[in-house]
Amino acid sequence: MYETKAYSAASATSPLASTRIPRRDPTAHDVQIEILFCGVCHSDLHSVRNEWSNTVFPIVPGHEIVGRVAKVGSAVTRYKPGDLAAVGCLVDADRTCPSCTEGLEQFCPNYVLTFNGPDKHLGGVTYGGYSDSIVVDEQFVLRVPPNLDPARAAPLLCAGITMYSPLRHWGITKGKKVGVVGLGGLGHMGVKFARAFGAHVVVFTTSRGKTEDALRLGADEVVLSRNADEMQKHAGSFDYILDTVSADHDVNALINLLRRDGTMTLVGAPEKPLGVAAFGLILGRRSLSGSPIGGIAETQEMLDFCGAQNITADVEVIPIQKINEAYERLLKSDVKYRFSIDMASLRSE
Ligand code: NAP
Ligand code: ZN
Repeated sequence: MYETKAYSAASATSPLASTRIPRRDPTAHDVQIEILFCGVCHSDLHSVRNEWSNTVFPIVPGHEIVGRVAKVGSAVTRYKPGDLAAVGCLVDADRTCPSCTEGLEQFCPNYVLTFNGPDKHLGGVTYGGYSDSIVVDEQFVLRVPPNLDPARAAPLLCAGITMYSPLRHWGITKGKKVGVVGLGGLGHMGVKFARAFGAHVVVFTTSRGKTEDALRLGADEVVLSRNADEMQKHAGSFDYILDTVSADHDVNALINLLRRDGTMTLVGAPEKPLGVAAFGLILGRRSLSGSPIGGIAETQEMLDFCGAQNITADVEVIPIQKINEAYERLLKSDVKYRFSIDMASLRSE
């Protein structure tokens, strides 16, 4: 066991603050990674404030990790010291259940999340990427294409895969009309991927000031979702809508924009249940679904796709000392479009 620097929150009302946490010494199958950048996901904020009522304190959030391999265990074959490597939302799973066998570890009943999951090595819960280093089994470590900027690649590990996976699953290709709701960390990656897959992309935003950016990021059209007239123009026309909104909002107004047999997928995870009107679904035989992150193989596929297409997140790099301010800005939808923490700021503390 060794100690490493980190930022943690002691309770749902405490700010994140500097601390030290234990990490296991790498076992035979482990990779020890010096963290270079960690993206700031809205899920970090939901968890730190215990909005999903499942947080174990103290919490060290962060599951969009890119770093350099520092050490490897004796049985590790795929990584060596100096390699660029990444870790997303999962650090383990049972590897034997039907979902794991299909490479869909995100549905494993015994998966271990990168933070706030049961730590079978040290006891207690796992600690995430707002930290100097992390130790992860090589099966859950990803390879980062060398042409991608590490600060901009980090958000791919959650925001990227959470958008890529449902767009692939629901068969988004050329000719489909796709809506992306909310232009934040997830939403802006959704625009980039839907565009890369050839769809006609419409962004739904509450922020008038994001219109130009939405078009620059790859949207064909932008709709102000609180303007009923603008919404009405698209009634019954969407094949697919991907909803990334992190707070309470009117899902029925969006469901009504689906064509017959269209699907809307929720990836945003607001604190409180959303009210769904039955007739919006009944009358168009429409579907409402959800989707969690992605499996390890698909995450690697997504990273390789991003390498080939030169796709990364638009980031604002921050020192870790600005993390509490960054959370306040996230709550005001004031991020363009992902905060990426430069972990050198933690090492110099
Ligand atoms: P984010 O960067 O804060 O983006 C959320 C966006 O939602 C905002 O930028 C804003 O976009 C819109 N929004 C916020 N409040 C709203 C409101 N009251 N009404 C309508 N729109 C509103 O967050 P994120 O990191 O992308 O995460 C989004 C959600 O996905 C969070 O709930 C997060 O926990 C969840 N998540 C789920 C998964 C999964 O596996 N399913 C993975 C990661 C994250 P505009 O300014 O454009 O309106
Ligand atoms: Zn996330």
